[in-house]
Amino acid sequence: MELTLRCRCGHVRGVAHEVAPAAGLRFTCYCRDCQDFARFLGHPDMLDAAGGTDIFQMAIGRLEILSGLDAVRCVKLSARVYRWYAGCCRTPIGNTAGPGFPLFALIHSFAEAAPDAPPLGRVLGPPRCRLFARSATVELPPDAPPPVSAGLFLYRLRRVAGWWARGLGRPNPFFDDKTAAPISPPHVLGAEERAALESGIRRGGP
Ligand SMILES: [Zn+2]
Ligand SMILES: [Zn+2]
Repeated sequence: MELTLRCRCGHVRGVAHEVAPAAGLRFTCYCRDCQDFARFLGHPDMLDAAGGTDIFQMAIGRLEILSGLDAVRCVKLSARVYRWYAGCCRTPIGNTAGPGFPLFALIHSFAEAAPDAPPLGRVLGPPRCRLFARSATVELPPDAPPPVSAGLFLYRLRRVAGWWARGLGRPNPFFDDKTAAPISPPHVLGAEERAALESGIRRGGP
């Protein structure tokens, strides 16, 4: 199946090709970096009630940005992860490693903004595991996705190896083909900025 991708305002549009539950891994990430990314964007509503982010890991070569690449921006909260978002309306797009690495972590918001977007579960199945649950903001509900199993870990390794083998590290819309430079210089979120974001949330809410 193909999944239509769109930021909230409609300026950045794209498509995820050949998506299916077995074409990647849908999971919920409760890590602090994902939570701070949501705070940085000013969209804490992209997190679930326990601070989790709904992510589908897929091959970057299957992601196509059709329009609005000029508005795509990047922020980094750690050395390895590039977090991409639509600067026009601050909709999260997804996370990548550096150029050439075949993995793209699509964030649900980019697949749910279109008015006719199908429920994600119908296309991707339910989230199959959770990561970094110790950073959840409240106790997880009984129906939260299970911890990652050894089988699922192997499944993910095989998927990524398969993407390498099939050359699905390209094309990568976020890095210049010739220079390998990110299309937008990453804003590195420092400790002070992060502390301010986190204290703002503590003052304002849960
Ligand atoms: Zn937008
Ligand atoms: Zn995370």
